[in-house]
Amino acid sequence: MTEIEFYKKKIFDKVSITQIKTQYPDSLDSIKNWEKSDNYKKIQKYKSNLTHKFKQIQVNLNNDELYKIVIWMYNTPKVCYYCSLPESTLEELHNQQGYINKRYPKRGKSLEIDRKQANLPYNDIENLVLACYWCNNAKTDTFTEDEFRLLGKEIKKIWENRLNRQL
Ligand SMILES: [Zn+2]
Repeated sequence: MTEIEFYKKKIFDKVSITQIKTQYPDSLDSIKNWEKSDNYKKIQKYKSNLTHKFKQIQVNLNNDELYKIVIWMYNTPKVCYYCSLPESTLEELHNQQGYINKRYPKRGKSLEIDRKQANLPYNDIENLVLACYWCNNAKTDTFTEDEFRLLGKEIKKIWENRLNRQL
């Protein structure tokens, strides 16, 4: 059994640890480690955040589709596709000026999923990118991917100014 298979069974298919151990007696040590790993927590967190998000925007995905998006998210570098802002600097930006996002104080603290072409569905992984709240919010379905990449370059300069370093 691979690590990723373990997460799928346990977190998505909700197979019990006991059952998984019975099915994969050769992987007992690994299972024990995977169960306690940061990866496990990360994937579980992505799953619960995304389930919540898709419920809010009334997008229905089946377990396998959700799983693919979570794994995609897990493997994608945590940098805004448009303005290059790394997720790791979001906290810093927020702390710098109180919260810089008064309208939705809960948004902006992690990268969001943007569909490059807003008319294509979420289960089209090729169409997904990670974007910061501000790019995602500004892009709406008005700007195309290429148009917003241009704007992203300018937004990047603003972040670099505020963070006082290059991104
Ligand atoms: Zn951005």
